[in-house]
Amino acid sequence: MTKGSDRKPDLIVLDNTPASRAAPLVDAFRRRISYLRLSVTDRCDLRCTYCMPERMTFLPKKEVLTLEELYELAAGFIDRGVTKIRITGGEPLVRRDIMDLFSALGRRLGHGLEELTLTTNATQLAGHADALVKAGVRRVNISLDTLDRDRFARLTRRDALPQVMEGIAAAKAAGLKVKLNAVALKGVNEDELPDLIAWAHGQGHDVTLIEVMPLGDVEEERLDQYLPLSDVRDQLERRWTLRDNDASTGGPARYVDIAETGGRLGFITPHTNNFCAGCNRLRVTATGQLYPCLGGSERVDLRAALRSDDPQAELADALERAMMIKPEKHHFRMDQRGADPHLARHMSMTGG
Ligand code: SAM
Ligand code: SF4
Repeated sequence: MTKGSDRKPDLIVLDNTPASRAAPLVDAFRRRISYLRLSVTDRCDLRCTYCMPERMTFLPKKEVLTLEELYELAAGFIDRGVTKIRITGGEPLVRRDIMDLFSALGRRLGHGLEELTLTTNATQLAGHADALVKAGVRRVNISLDTLDRDRFARLTRRDALPQVMEGIAAAKAAGLKVKLNAVALKGVNEDELPDLIAWAHGQGHDVTLIEVMPLGDVEEERLDQYLPLSDVRDQLERRWTLRDNDASTGGPARYVDIAETGGRLGFITPHTNNFCAGCNRLRVTATGQLYPCLGGSERVDLRAALRSDDPQAELADALERAMMIKPEKHHFRMDQRGADPHLARHMSMTGG
């Protein structure tokens, strides 16, 4: 049980019988796990200043799971009741032959899997949008923090806004439902968020704003980047009418509808709000490390299980352990000035 928790976890006894290997995944706080975020690479063609340093050290390729292993893992989760899989990274579309994984997983849609989605920076989306639809993807999350080309180049350290806009347009043209994610950054894009939202809603895209999280060393002070979304909401309420929307996706966002734009806006506020009680998700990195909580360092090695002599039994055992250690809630705290990051792991390992 994690420090500071107020709910009592159930006692889970390791059970690795063939019957238990097919049982749904339920953690010690009786949360049913139905959502997997699967990172397929830690590499990326951008270098967002809040995500990673310019000279990022990437994992040696041999440590990364093969596409076959990624599929095998994902299929194992589907067999244990996971109905939604989001492919993420790093930037998933920079991984060679990644569409083979989408196609293979797409064949599980309607056979245990209900939704296959993707989070992308959209730099390469124009070339993949049609194939994603063909594979069965219906919705994508696209990260976009600014509409200003110079600002984008400073923020991502790459001059790629034109490709990103092309990718967003291609996704729309292919019939994908697009949601834009924007990280709110103090003094960087805070003056532009209303315009970004107005533009996105005009295009028919929902938007979710995210507070920056203290993951990994990024060369800048986290405290200088951090903009509480309560401030952003105040700013938006001076311009628009925001109505709370109770729609829940089982995820961490709280939603409002904006009367004037007709669009929906989500807020992900790990620092000002706790979203853990209904958490239904797990994250697996490209090296097969399962992190049951984005805000914690607990992990279980699925790659070792997958590469063992008895992958089925070892995997079942590893998943059982993950259910035991999934904490009741995260304990994010913003870094102190000059201190080491709260968690050494970058967001590009787990994909958000
Ligand atoms: N490369 C893809 C992209 O940018 O959409 C997928 C991976 S990226 C790590 C997933 C999401 O995490 C993006 O929306 C990004 O803005 C967000 N992100 C990255 N680092 C973050 C941080 N330290 N705090 C909050 N969000 C972060
Ligand atoms: Fe790459 Fe996404 Fe991280 Fe930006 S947020 S550096 S696009 S992984």
